[in-house]
Amino acid sequence: MAGCTHLDHVKITELPESVEGCEDCLATGEKWLHLRICLECGHVGCCDDSPNHHATAHARDSGHPIIRSLQPGEEWAWCFEDELAFVLPNVRGETRIPPSPLG
Ligand SMILES: [Zn+2]
Ligand SMILES: [Zn+2]
Ligand SMILES: [Zn+2]
Repeated sequence: MAGCTHLDHVKITELPESVEGCEDCLATGEKWLHLRICLECGHVGCCDDSPNHHATAHARDSGHPIIRSLQPGEEWAWCFEDELAFVLPNVRGETRIPPSPLG
């Protein structure tokens, strides 16, 4: 199986207990749909279906390649470099998130 070659960038193995929302949207008063966390630094951003794509923007600006969904029941991670989705069994925890401001 061709796998992601960036797993050494995964520094966050314990997900936060709760988050307030997309950090960048909260800073500017904007709205997000779904939340993603950067597994390298813990930045919380919004998905590509959100108006501002902050998770993708963070990956591009920081060079941090791997995010994980914070949506309840979603366990997938995504590598922007390899464009691969996978599950990281060593990343634990479930994060409480507020309802999306966009519903
Ligand atoms: Zn990768
Ligand atoms: Zn956002
Ligand atoms: Zn990051």
